Amino acid sequence: MAALSGQVALITGASAPRGIGRAIAQRLAADGAAVVVTDIAGNFTLDDATHDRETLLTEMAAEIEASGGTALALTLDVTSGEDIARSVGETMSRFGRIDILVNNAGSLAGSASFMDTTPVQWNTSFQVNLLGPVILCQAVIPAMRSQGGGRIINIGSTGSLGAEPGFGAYTAMKHALAALSKTIASEEGQHGILCNTVCPGFIMTDMHMAANRRLATEAGLSIEALQAQRYATVATRNAGQPEDVAAAVAYLAGPGGRYVTGTNLPVSGGVPYGI
Ligand code: NAP
Repeated sequence: MAALSGQVALITGASAPRGIGRAIAQRLAADGAAVVVTDIAGNFTLDDATHDRETLLTEMAAEIEASGGTALALTLDVTSGEDIARSVGETMSRFGRIDILVNNAGSLAGSASFMDTTPVQWNTSFQVNLLGPVILCQAVIPAMRSQGGGRIINIGSTGSLGAEPGFGAYTAMKHALAALSKTIASEEGQHGILCNTVCPGFIMTDMHMAANRRLATEAGLSIEALQAQRYATVATRNAGQPEDVAAAVAYLAGPGGRYVTGTNLPVSGGVPYGI
């Protein structure tokens, strides 16, 4: 039997074609879970083409179903309490349970030097990277308790563990997210709920490439030179792939993770932040 057979997983921020959320959804579905794939509504531009997130989610759910899995696509803006309540309600109506929550949605909004980051940018980062996961955890924990357990996996960052210049608001929120995981782990372990933080380093996604482009412009470097400089700080000297993060999530969600809670698991090739 597949490792996650009979289980239901909800993943936020899952529409991006080269994103970590999509890779997590595909991996958990391949491991047998029914997956609820969610993202904020609206369009975004990628490679000079405009994409509609709801269409991307619906297509992903159809692909998973075509390969024998079970998937439900829902619109969920993590900054909306109404969206969170509706999405958890629809998940419970359709499947009657929720075993795995992956708080993957994240935003680099407000990435700037500390002295240049505005209160509005701090607030946006807080809403998406911290308060959204808080409210989602509060929304699913009652169901997990009544089922006798569950797994919550928060997607932090190596910015949950140290700091790189130019990402102050994001770094502060990702540190707080890791602290949130530890609090939930300490309080909910008695109910069989495990909570951990996966901390990606440099992972080849559109968010990562957007950060590289900004840093390259600020430093007056080509994107290639900037990447060479950044990846030289990684022990393995390269960036990872979304599937590398998905493998860590699958471990924490699966049978092998049953005695692991309150940890930070870097998936970073050994990013050595000195601070
Ligand atoms: P991504 O492709 O930008 O995926 C993030 C997703 O979250 C996007 O679809 C994004 O939509 C969505 N999102 C933003 N605001 C949202 C909201 N209010 N409600 C729901 N969804 C929202 O980035 P990624 O690189 O896969 O990142 C996934 C997670 O990994 C994030 O938490 C990120 O902080 C973390 N991470 C990534 C890296 C890396 O190197 N890639 C490193 C460390 C940590 P938009 O396109 O509108 O923003």
